[in-house]
Amino acid sequence: MTRIAIMGAAGRMGRVLLTAAHQADNATLGAAVIRPGSSLVGVDAGELAGLGRIDVATTGDVRAVADDIDVLIDFTTPQLTLDNLAFCAEHGKAIVIGTTGFTDEELEALDSYKDRVPMVFAANMSTGVNLLVNLLKTASKALGDAGYDIEVIEAHHRHKVDAPSGTALMLGDAVAEPLGRTLKEHGVFAREGQCGPRRDDEIGFATVRAGDIVGEHTVLFATEGERIELTHKASSRMTFGKGAVRAAAWVATQPAGRFDMQDVLGIK
Ligand code: NAD
Repeated sequence: MTRIAIMGAAGRMGRVLLTAAHQADNATLGAAVIRPGSSLVGVDAGELAGLGRIDVATTGDVRAVADDIDVLIDFTTPQLTLDNLAFCAEHGKAIVIGTTGFTDEELEALDSYKDRVPMVFAANMSTGVNLLVNLLKTASKALGDAGYDIEVIEAHHRHKVDAPSGTALMLGDAVAEPLGRTLKEHGVFAREGQCGPRRDDEIGFATVRAGDIVGEHTVLFATEGERIELTHKASSRMTFGKGAVRAAAWVATQPAGRFDMQDVLGIK
């Protein structure tokens, strides 16, 4: 049984992850870590997640529960995730990282742990989105250089702090790569005023933030006379929670390295 620590357990994803870990057949909840000083430190993690008592008390310090866990699941903030990677390197733990919004420097720091820590890092843990990545590679090869404009449109709840979403960037990379393009060079992340006509090779992004939208992504390929839209809609955060727990059970048996959900699902 893989023993999982949920980091940021009081957060939106944290509470879902508590439920997913508790319900899993091949994993068990070893620890629930929340912000030190929170009034919720010490409460029962099951009660925090609305599951009823499960006899795992929340803690403000992952070091205090190091002996009770094998893998961390971390959907928090970039800085906290880097701190947690340092903990994993020091204590021989694996980690599943769902956090998004890393700067280039933070990504470099994350990558520097790949020789010491088994990690799954994915901006989206859902099976559907990871299958969509594969479908997009096929569509991009067929259409991208054949006069089809490519745009990525995403929508999320009003509390999301980074834009475009990590998933939108992941989908953008999936269409850019087969065409020899990069989002750094070909991504267009804002259009306003007299910005001129669209370049043939640009990959545009548009962002919606509203209400309680869990996460919606569309990649469209449009030319004169037709357009194809590939859309994924998440209707519950449980899709990310279940994917993350599956990744945790998988990465617990892996050597040090940086893996993604395609590795976990065996669809690379
Ligand atoms: P949230 O703000 O509800 O949760 C973040 C949690 O981190 C909070 O509970 C916060 O208290 C905790 N935290 C921050 N600093 C801390 C500290 N120093 N110590 C302990 N805890 C600390 O946000 P959310 O909606 O749950 O999203 C979290 C992250 O997960 C975001 O980056 C989001 O984009 C990402 N996300 C990824 C996926 C995926 O499938 N990969 C899916 C959904 C969300």
